[in-house]
Amino acid sequence: MQTPQVVVVGSANADLVLDIDHRPAPGETIIGSDVVTTPGGKGANQAVAAGKMGGSVAFVGCVGDDDHGALLRDSLASAGVDLTQLRTVEAPTGTATIMVTPDGENSIIVSPGANRHVTPAVLEEARSSWATAPVVVLQLEIPLESVELVATQAAGRVVLNAAPAAPLPARVLAAADPLVVNESEAAFLLQDAGGESRPGQPPGGQNGERDDAARTAQALLGLGPRSVVLTLGSAGAVVAEAQEDDGGADVAHVPAVRVEAVDTTGAGDSFVGALAVELAAGAGLAQAVGLATRVAAVAVTRRGAQTSFPTLEEVGRLDA
Ligand code: ADP
Repeated sequence: MQTPQVVVVGSANADLVLDIDHRPAPGETIIGSDVVTTPGGKGANQAVAAGKMGGSVAFVGCVGDDDHGALLRDSLASAGVDLTQLRTVEAPTGTATIMVTPDGENSIIVSPGANRHVTPAVLEEARSSWATAPVVVLQLEIPLESVELVATQAAGRVVLNAAPAAPLPARVLAAADPLVVNESEAAFLLQDAGGESRPGQPPGGQNGERDDAARTAQALLGLGPRSVVLTLGSAGAVVAEAQEDDGGADVAHVPAVRVEAVDTTGAGDSFVGALAVELAAGAGLAQAVGLATRVAAVAVTRRGAQTSFPTLEEVGRLDA
């Protein structure tokens, strides 16, 4: 394989999904459905999404020497992802136990397992893979020191998906180009920075909501990233880029594609993976968000995370 254009450094989990009729109370035992096991974890999801776009993609992470690790290796490999830097360590593969109640709400328990082994020392050994890649993709399901090492020392463009929400040092935020967050992660970062979680009161109506999202994206730019992508579910995304000359910002709204959503699991991850491939191919940020929006639209029409992600050809059929 040639030098990867996109290197994803992050988590790999087996998603263990089961239906329950109610959440167990303290001391209560309940009977759930059979467990359905699917490959997941934000890092692996994003690498699979990028690989399915036909990009040259490598994944840096850790799994255990167990069936869940094998499941993840298979899923990544079948998306064409280079696994030279996927380590097998002496810990169980990470899991996310996802309990779904009849109202469709999830309760999730993440057991990081092998993802805890994605340490700065391990990443130093894998430095040649990420240090010079044109685009490096990070999320927050591995130790924060590891995110900080890669974000601050990668020579290429850093796509930082600040999920799940966690406080971030200014130098990590400053490396992001773009910072990609959904609305709740945005609110968390702004609150953590000591500001209001939602700047301004949203005036009513769709335009009002969009203005509000544009203000949130601009407030996020104020935290230091070079650019911001704020995802808005079925309302699409807002792109904000700092202007070099006058300190202002270019802000644009990219609408979502209208589809019948069946399962939004992994929508954000498919979006980030596709975005990274387009940026590596030289697209501008708004153009890359356009493809990401189309990829995520297909992903929400199918069940699961990695299993729901489309190929480039399938995305093309959206126009047909
Ligand atoms: P996350 O999954 O991280 O919470 P969002 O819900 O904002 O993030 O979704 C990410 C992207 O997925 C959105 O910007 C949009 O492009 C796409 N998307 C999500 N839900 C839908 C939907 N119901 N219809 C069409 N596109 C969607």
